[in-house]
Parts: sequence; structure tokens; C-alpha cells
Amino acid sequence: MPPDAARWRRFSDVFARTVEDAGYACIIPPMFEDLGVFRRLGEATDVVTKEMYDFEDKGGRHIALRPEQTASVCRAFAQHRPATPWKVWYSGPNFRYEKAQAGRYRQFDQVGIEVLGTDDPDIDVEVIFLGWDFYRRLGLSNITLMVNSLGDTTDRQRYVDALAAHFASRASTLSEEAQRTLEKNPLRVLDSKRDQDKAAVESAPLLKDFLSEDARSHFARVCEGLKELDVPFVVNDRLVRGLDYYRRTTFEYVSTALESAQNAVGGGGRYDGLVEEIGGPATHGIGFALGVDRTLLACDAEGVFPAPDASVDVFIVDVVDGRQARALTHDLRRLGFSADRAFDGRSMKSQMKAADRSGAKVAIIVGEDEASSGPCVVRRLDSSDQVVISRVDLVDYLGSLGLTPSTETA
Ligand code: AMP
Repeated sequence: MPPDAARWRRFSDVFARTVEDAGYACIIPPMFEDLGVFRRLGEATDVVTKEMYDFEDKGGRHIALRPEQTASVCRAFAQHRPATPWKVWYSGPNFRYEKAQAGRYRQFDQVGIEVLGTDDPDIDVEVIFLGWDFYRRLGLSNITLMVNSLGDTTDRQRYVDALAAHFASRASTLSEEAQRTLEKNPLRVLDSKRDQDKAAVESAPLLKDFLSEDARSHFARVCEGLKELDVPFVVNDRLVRGLDYYRRTTFEYVSTALESAQNAVGGGGRYDGLVEEIGGPATHGIGFALGVDRTLLACDAEGVFPAPDASVDVFIVDVVDGRQARALTHDLRRLGFSADRAFDGRSMKSQMKAADRSGAKVAIIVGEDEASSGPCVVRRLDSSDQVVISRVDLVDYLGSLGLTPSTETA
């Protein structure tokens, strides 16, 4: 609803400016894809196994509403094979059949970027920085950035084996849910927030002790770059993130102004195997998605990034027959002012009320005495001071009140 919807749009505009200035091009992935595209995100991922809105269409195809947009971007890359590095950004809704609660919805918006075709650690730095910088541009100051490296596939496998052995030896102490997760993906047991699982999670082996030399030096260079760009971060050994496809660098932005249950406002990482999974060539990839709904809750909590002012500059009040209002509103809009008017031949009093509601700085009043090219009355709505101005001087007079035409034309 207005005015929140305008805030939403401005959010996306600020994001677009942030990332387009860094060379990212807009992509609009489809809202639904063949189910198979999302299945590749990982069979042990809740987003895929439990939370997808999927259905059969009239042609018998198995379709799913997108639960996230990285898979669609990778599918588009595999299909169109653009030159690399391919840097794109997106904004739009996703759908997950989750337990709805404050900050967690079944339809929620994300903005995000993806870079395909390079494993240069400096692109990790760029991506992480852009998310950080965007939060700063919104005015948020209580954001903590956590980073980690998940290593390469073989490192991860060795780690998963060690984790599986660790949790298996303590299986009797684990919650039922953790035991089920253990069978599918021991890594995800680390995400358990249950008290019963705490001891086993805390004593679990650490991924950093399993990293190959390559993965280790990649991560060291990422950390070096973030320090150089003055981005504060903490290395969090337990950060594995919800989607299975991540490799090497992972990161999450957390708002300390939000309740801890839903305080992750965005996150991302490297997904070097995903394009290949989807049927494309072996391609490196990294990106992030930021939750719009939740980031705006963080903005509310910090009292920053309010809804933009939706008021018009000028409101035309015509107490004759509306023809003057029709012409003058049109002329002023064409000159670049924002202008609105009343309809339905309302009384002067009713039109003035509408003028106040519009938030306009001035009302231009056209009465019986004002001929089409004659003077009009300009009333300042904050003070009710009014002057009679000829039409030729109108634009200059509006300028003297600080109202200037917008230079953006359609
Ligand atoms: P993910 O795609 O799961 O990595 O999520 C990235 C960000 O999107 C999270 O940090 C949240 O801010 C946001 N997000 C994910 N799921 C939801 C949801 N169901 N409702 C609202 N925001 C969400």
C-alpha cells in the first residue's frame, strides 16, 4: 500500500544506482521455471524439498515459482552464453512455503547481484563491498558482516565426512530433527538452534582446518581486500548458509537492530559448480541476495530510510467548470512540475481540502474573475498567504518559492 510501495521502489532505485555504477546490468528472471532448475539447488536444502510452490501446468510440465533467483540467472547464462565476467543485478519477489512470522513471509522481495565467469578473489571483495555499501547508503549503521570459506568440493567432502563421524558418535544426544538432518546433510546440523544440539555443535570440527592451500589463499586475499576497503567483518567459522550450492567464500549481513530469530538481512557466496549442474559449461559464480522486507524492518528499527515524500508541487483549484484546471494542470506538468487537481466540480472548500491532503506547497486558484490568459491566485498552503500573479510570471513565481521543474522528461 502507499506510501510503503513507494519506499519499496526507492529501495530498488538506490540499489540499482549502487550496482549499476559498478558495471552490473539489470536482468529480469522469470517468476517461474521448470522445477528441475531449482532442484539443482540441492536436495538437502529446505528451500527445495519443503518450501517450493510447485504445480503442473496445463501442458503437463512440472513448474515451480522461484524460491530465489540465482538458479534462474545461471540457467539464463547456460542458455545464452554471454561474455564473461557477466555482472547482473535483479529485484523482485520470491516464493517459499515457510512458517510465516514477523520478517519471514511466503512472498518476499529480494534485490541481488551475480557475477559469472571469474574466480578472482577481488570480485568476492567487490560483491561483498557492494552489499555493505548499499546498507550504508540506506543509512543503516547496525549491520554486522560475517564471512567464512567453505573450501572447495573436496575440502568440503573431507569436512562433511569428519562432521558426520563427529555427530554420529553423539547421535543419541541430538534432537530428532538434527538426527534426520544428519542423514541428509551433516553440514546443516551446524545450523541447529536447539539447546539439545548445542554441545555437539560447539565441539564440532572447524571447516578452516580442512581448507586446501588454494582455498586458504583465496580466502586470505578476500579478507585482505575487505580490510583495505575499510569494511569491518568477522570471520564466523560456523557460517554455512542455507543453500547447498555454496563453495569457498560465504557471507551474511546481520542487523543487530532486529530480533535475533530473523536478523539476517542478506547473504551470499560463491557457487562455482552451479552453472554446470544446470547444464552449462563449468563456470565460476558469486553473488548475494538481500531481503527487501527484512532490510526495511531494520530501517524502521534504526529510524532511517523513510517513505519518500509523495506530495505534488502544485494543486489547481478551479471553481468555474474545470476547464481551466484541465489546461493549467496539463501545461504545468509539461513544464516539468508535479501537479494535481480536483474533479467532479466540487465546492471551493472541498477542493481546498483536497489541496491540503495532496501535500502541495501551493494551490493555484482559478475563479470566475480569472480569464484563460488572465491572472490567477497562488496561495501558499503552509501560511495561507496569497498573491495574484499573471500567467506569464507564474513559473518565475513558483521558482521563487523553491518549486522548480524536474529536468527528467519522459
Ligand atoms: P537466502 O536466499 O535464503 O540466502 O536469503 C537471503 C535474504 O533474503 C535473507 O537474509 C533474508 O533477509 C531474506 N529472506 C529469505 N527468506 C525470506 C522470507 N521467507 N521472508 C522474508 N525475507 C526472507
